[in-house]
Amino acid sequence: MKSVAIIGGGPAGLAAAEVIATAGMAVTVYDAKPSLARKFLMAGKSGLNLTFDAPVQRLIESYAEAGAWLSSSIAAFDSTNIIDWAEGLGQEIFRGSTGRVFPKVMKASPLLRAWLVRLDDLGVTQHTRWRWCGWNKGALSFDTPDGHRAVTVDAVVLALGGASWARLGSDGAWAEILTAKGIKPTAFDAANAAVAVTWSNFMTKHLGKPIKGVAWCAGNYRSRGEAMLSQKGLEGGGIYSVSRGVREGADLTVDLLPDLTVEAITKRLAKPRGKNSLINHLRKVVKLDKVKLALLNEYARPLPVDPHRLARTLKAVKVSHSGLNLMDEAISTSGGVMASSVNEDFMLYEMPGTFCAGEMLDWEAPTGGYLLTACLATGRQAGRGVVKYLDT
Ligand SMILES: Cc1cc2nc3c(=O)[nH]c(=O)nc-3n(C[C@H](O)[C@H](O)[C@H](O)COP(=O)(O)OP(=O)(O)OC[C@H]3O[C@@H](n4cnc5c(N)ncnc54)[C@H](O)[C@@H]3O)c2cc1C
Repeated sequence: MKSVAIIGGGPAGLAAAEVIATAGMAVTVYDAKPSLARKFLMAGKSGLNLTFDAPVQRLIESYAEAGAWLSSSIAAFDSTNIIDWAEGLGQEIFRGSTGRVFPKVMKASPLLRAWLVRLDDLGVTQHTRWRWCGWNKGALSFDTPDGHRAVTVDAVVLALGGASWARLGSDGAWAEILTAKGIKPTAFDAANAAVAVTWSNFMTKHLGKPIKGVAWCAGNYRSRGEAMLSQKGLEGGGIYSVSRGVREGADLTVDLLPDLTVEAITKRLAKPRGKNSLINHLRKVVKLDKVKLALLNEYARPLPVDPHRLARTLKAVKVSHSGLNLMDEAISTSGGVMASSVNEDFMLYEMPGTFCAGEMLDWEAPTGGYLLTACLATGRQAGRGVVKYLDT
């Protein structure tokens, strides 16, 4: 029986394990942490967005320049397949109005439990607290609670994750090991990250509140998603979706009235305001709530009195910030093993028999279920690659 090591027991590694074990090979999953898939469980804390219910082409576009690279793996395991797979593991699924797909319980733990039972039934074994440290004379080298161990296998899938939330296991330390082997990954950077803002004292009473019904904009990225005012700045899906633009140096602006044109706003603002202050006028004629007015005051004072100029200001309030928050706090990271280092099954050209999968590959995507979709799809593609490699 051929033996395969999966190093990294997150969603990508487990997806590879499922495919390879189903093909009848002996699979062992190794993970540095005391239990598997800790980041996946964390993802479930705020509602596990498993995938996005859309045609394959639309899914692929979400990976921007990496779309062509990931297209065949995503076409082979798209959102429909992910829904079927999760239902097959006993999860009831629901689709949100925007197309996002979640397990009804929102959490990741029931899905993970059922998945681990299936893997166990397929004969997959696991070694936790085994930290992979590279290769030694052709063998995989691990630090374990019982000291150093060397393991020799027929094929390996590396599914070591990105470089955020190191405490959950994804510390990116693998990049040095691969670099020493001549496989240079692209440097990591924060993706889907919060934006750091030092608020004035006027904003204190609004911290913890959501900002809804606006449009965030940075460079080519625009999002109607919700954001949250936090002690450290701005966070939440709306901000994460444009954080790539911020990282690339574009201005961050917020359109406080995305459903109205400048002309329509100008017309409303031009109505006589009588004894009303400008702020009260804004509240009445364009229905700005307290949080939006606070943001306007924070960034656009002194407000122009001319209705047309004020309308243009409301459509693009420039948000001053000090860049993205720490990479370790980001939902995901960009960077990793480049497309040019692997074949169509994500096998390293430099190391035949060694495959890569998941967030450790150099692609990025916004939140919305696209991250897990690509982790599962590339994990399964690497799994099929292993089976093909060992069968020939
Ligand atoms: C708060 C939060 C919410 C999220 N919500 C969502 C969401 O709703 N939808 C979505 O699509 N995505 C979400 N994500 C992102 C998603 O969780 C990750 O993209 C996904 O877990 C990456 O999967 P992976 O298998 O590639 O890597 P990981 O899940 O990071 O797993 C990598 C594994 O490798 C192990 N490892 C690393 N180095 C070594 C080593 N040297 N030796 C042995 N083991 C090692 C780690 O311990 C870890 O278990 C969220 C992330 C966060 C932080």
